[in-house]
Amino acid sequence: MLSSLLWMVLSLGAADAPSVSSPVSPVTPVTPVTPVTTVTTALCLPAVQVLGSGLPGDMVESFAADAAVLVDDLRIRTGDVDCRPITITLVRSMSDAGELEPPWRLPTWAAGAAQSATRRIVVGVSAEGRVQDRRRTLHHELAHVMIHSAAGGADLPRWLDEGLARVLAGEHGIDDLRVLAQARLADRFLPLAALEKGFPDGSADAGLAYAQAGRAVSLMQDHEDAIPRLLHLVRDGSPVDDALRQATGRATWQWDLDVRRSVSMWAALAATGVETDAAMAGCGVVVAIFGVKARRRQRRRMLDMDDGVPIRPAAVALTRWTVACSTC
Ligand SMILES: [Zn+2]
Repeated sequence: MLSSLLWMVLSLGAADAPSVSSPVSPVTPVTPVTPVTTVTTALCLPAVQVLGSGLPGDMVESFAADAAVLVDDLRIRTGDVDCRPITITLVRSMSDAGELEPPWRLPTWAAGAAQSATRRIVVGVSAEGRVQDRRRTLHHELAHVMIHSAAGGADLPRWLDEGLARVLAGEHGIDDLRVLAQARLADRFLPLAALEKGFPDGSADAGLAYAQAGRAVSLMQDHEDAIPRLLHLVRDGSPVDDALRQATGRATWQWDLDVRRSVSMWAALAATGVETDAAMAGCGVVVAIFGVKARRRQRRRMLDMDDGVPIRPAAVALTRWTVACSTC
């Protein structure tokens, strides 16, 4: 058992005030109207308790200050109105998380973890002997907690949950672009529908899954208030795909296509060319040309077979992933 827990409580506001929804006046529509979604505004802030396990007081204090700022930011961006307290424990090494009460059971490579339902978070200063970016980890795990609350505790598809956390924590950037570019050149995108229950174990495919999820959510942000509206609709009982259509105008399988289309071949070549030599870039061009020709042939075959009934591409891609996963 670890000793001497240094704790501090940041009381950010009264936790017992009720939350309210903006009322919508009843109207008699002359023509069909799009239903109006109201984003609830909270009148309270959750208390954030930050515990530092055997760590210097100033480190825990600075971490707690970060947590307060991040909670404020995430509540606005998710529309979360849950006022229950959040408990965050900072540990020297993630291997210490198993000795906390209650203990965490985590893989050795984890840098942090969140139990969204109980609003508990653990973050390691180091994991597997390497110093971690603890603020970034905290941001990501806090995002999971807020997403869960904002969605009323509903289960979101894993790709959506991780994509939201990645975008809200500011993690979807140049690293994801490189991964997406390589997937574009090799034509090996994963279907989002296959990432509903979990992510692949292999680091390359897992990295691609995170990058695609992040790209999908980043594209959604072109729609005003898409994230809080989406989560609000799910909290009100809408199935995820219905909520996606209403908040973003697109269903999961359409976001799948949008993610692929968002990485043009030229952008992919440019992104990979930055880190490869000219020979490798040349190989990329050859692969790309053969890939384009193969896809044109396949499209022609599909057009020949087309009976005018639209097919959801995710169903086809899902089979491909299931086969691939059976060997991992
Ligand atoms: Zn995550």
